Amino acid sequence: MSMTANKSAAKATATEESLHRIFTIPEAPDSTLGLIEQEMSQNLAGFLGDHIVAKDHLLTSIEKDFACSAIPEDPAYVSDHMHHLLEKLVAQSVHTSSPSFIGHMTSALPYFILPLSKLMVGLNQNLVKIETSKAFTPLERQVLGMMHRLVYQEDDTFYQRWMHSAKHSLGAFCSGGTVANITALWVARNNLLKADGNFKGVAQQGLFAALNHYQYNGLVILVSSRGHYSLKKSADILGIGRDSVIAIPTDEHNRIDCAKLREKCLELQQQNIAILSIVGVAGTTETGSVDLLEKMAHIAQEFSCHFHVDAAWGGATLLSNKHRSILKGVELADSVTIDAHKQMYVPMGAGLVVFKNPSLASSIEHHAEYILRKGSKDLGSHTLEGSRPGMAMLVYASLHIISRPGYELLINQSIDKANYYAQIIDQHEDFELITKPELCLLTYRYNPKQVQDYLERCNEKEQLAVNQLLDQLTKFIQKRQRENGKSFVSRTRIEVGKYQNRKTLVFRVVLANPLTTKAILNDILQEQAELAQESISFLPKLFEKSSQLI
Ligand SMILES: *Cc1c(COP(=O)(O)O)cnc(C)c1O
Repeated sequence: MSMTANKSAAKATATEESLHRIFTIPEAPDSTLGLIEQEMSQNLAGFLGDHIVAKDHLLTSIEKDFACSAIPEDPAYVSDHMHHLLEKLVAQSVHTSSPSFIGHMTSALPYFILPLSKLMVGLNQNLVKIETSKAFTPLERQVLGMMHRLVYQEDDTFYQRWMHSAKHSLGAFCSGGTVANITALWVARNNLLKADGNFKGVAQQGLFAALNHYQYNGLVILVSSRGHYSLKKSADILGIGRDSVIAIPTDEHNRIDCAKLREKCLELQQQNIAILSIVGVAGTTETGSVDLLEKMAHIAQEFSCHFHVDAAWGGATLLSNKHRSILKGVELADSVTIDAHKQMYVPMGAGLVVFKNPSLASSIEHHAEYILRKGSKDLGSHTLEGSRPGMAMLVYASLHIISRPGYELLINQSIDKANYYAQIIDQHEDFELITKPELCLLTYRYNPKQVQDYLERCNEKEQLAVNQLLDQLTKFIQKRQRENGKSFVSRTRIEVGKYQNRKTLVFRVVLANPLTTKAILNDILQEQAELAQESISFLPKLFEKSSQLI
């Protein structure tokens, strides 16, 4: 608890007066908190750069700083506590906004987000109901309308009619792609197993009664083997079980194999197993690939099932007129997930799902007496979450401040950079590009030229042995690079066609930070090549092998 007094020799005490102060009196500009605020608003990048220590500490040693489970009996002065946070937490955070942090979908934020977030937190509006949000509710509905339009491109009349209609929703704003996917599949489930005759619907009577009534032998979700794990969580929560997410194999471009998808649908039809949804992925998490959405939509139509597109990461590509055709067919989806906290440069906690049909979400409508009254415009009647912050304001502001052409530039640049990176990987004889970028994500590994040549002519058993060694090498380089603290590339394990679909360890790069330059990319690759040389002492066998081959 705070006292504005800065000298910490005295001990703070919890009194009514001190409590009153923390709600009414701001920290002095020369207090630690005041200085931090100043520094952050003048030079955020500098502040983060100075305070996040590049050196990698063992997690087990950091855990010791967070070991006490007792809630403090003695209050702390704000300034003392700020020192504590800077040292123990900020210093050991990950520098996600660094231009050489190119390993994940979480990236740098534009500058204006910081003061706007402060405003949002200060206002503390609760979007669950109008009574605690007022103008934030129409704002959120507008944002959903804008994102709906981005996907479905309906005309003004459509949006005038539906955007603010109490009984309809063009989408649901939520904390992220996971909740958006759960919401979409929840809607799909409830529409499939809706009330019918004496049966009051799955929402009311549950899955057991629903399957009994409709006489189905089961319920499944179909997605490519590159589908996001949130779909399994959804299946679990919706009561159909994780095994009911059926993974359809992919083609050589890491897209769902549509012929196999259709075959599966036919097979399920014969077994009287209902398809809860076919899910297309627009930007897979591991390879950034986009399924052939139009073809999938036609298969969904043929089998009269819900078609959902998980565009959590790739959805923002629709803002680029140059590249939006990569997602052709997305407008045929019944529902689409988009994360604003990925390629739209909004801080975490901003996901959404849009519905083609404004009446679709009525299948999950929920009312309560003291809030969410029937006919009210309370957003909480169509969301999984209850209390929710005004994050939509940050999406709203970003769409206005950056504008569509601004986003287009950002997206086009990221894709160009990914292509450049793929090109320098291709040109370097000791690197092997594993998946080409379709959007701004690619995978590759270090693989010395001689070893690459050897892999092409050896038998399968030898290939396996070499690939296992290469996995160790990839892991070594990735860890060591992270520990060096200058740059960060992530790693994942994916099936690689040319190695008999063996799950192979690869580097994964996501290019999103507009401040990442070609020079930085060159350096990152160079550092990896140097680390590979260093690994000779760790992996003598691999290098013996390659030297024997010279
Ligand atoms: C990130 C992602 C998700 C999950 O989104 P969260 O915001 O992390 O909950 C789902 N699907 C895909 C394809 C993603 O990239």
